[in-house]
Amino acid sequence: MRDCDNVTMREMLPDLLHDRLAPSVRANLESHLKACADCRAELELLRSVVSGAVTPRIDASRIAAAVPAYQRPSAVMSALRSWPLRAAAAVVLVVGTVTFLKNTQTTLEPDTLVAAAAPGLAVGAMTDIPDQDLRALAAELKKLQAVTPAEPEVVVPGVGRGSE
Ligand SMILES: [Zn+2]
Repeated sequence: MRDCDNVTMREMLPDLLHDRLAPSVRANLESHLKACADCRAELELLRSVVSGAVTPRIDASRIAAAVPAYQRPSAVMSALRSWPLRAAAAVVLVVGTVTFLKNTQTTLEPDTLVAAAAPGLAVGAMTDIPDQDLRALAAELKKLQAVTPAEPEVVVPGVGRGSE
C-alpha cells in the first residue's frame, strides 16, 4: 500500500473513522475515497487497528518461556557484596577471641579457638563462609561476650564508609 498524495484527505481519515468531521468535509472526503484506493486501504487499516482485529493476542506462557530463568548472582559478585560483612564478623570474632583468651588465661592458640568456635572456618577463606556459619559465629560471639567479665573492644573496619 502506498500513501495517497493528497495529504489533506489522508490526514482526515482518523477523524472520519471517529466521526469527528463536519458534514461538508465528510462528504468531500467520502467522494475522494470513492476515487482513491490508497485512502480506502488506509481507512480499512485504521478501522482494523481501532477495532482490535489486528491486535496480537498476548500469550503469557510464551512470554514467560522467553524470559531467561532467574540466575543467582555469580560467585564473585556474591563474595564482593558480602565481603565487608564477613570480614567484619571475622574481625569481631578474633577480637572477641583474643579478649576471651586474655581474660581466661587459657593456653589455647587463637586459631584453635576460632576453629572450635566455627567448625570448617579457616581464616583467610572468609569469603566462603555460608550464612549459617555466620549466624553460628554471631551466636558464638555472644557467648564469648557473655563469658568475658570485661566488654571487649569491638573494632569493625570501614563497613558503610565506602571504598577508600
Ligand atoms: Zn487518497
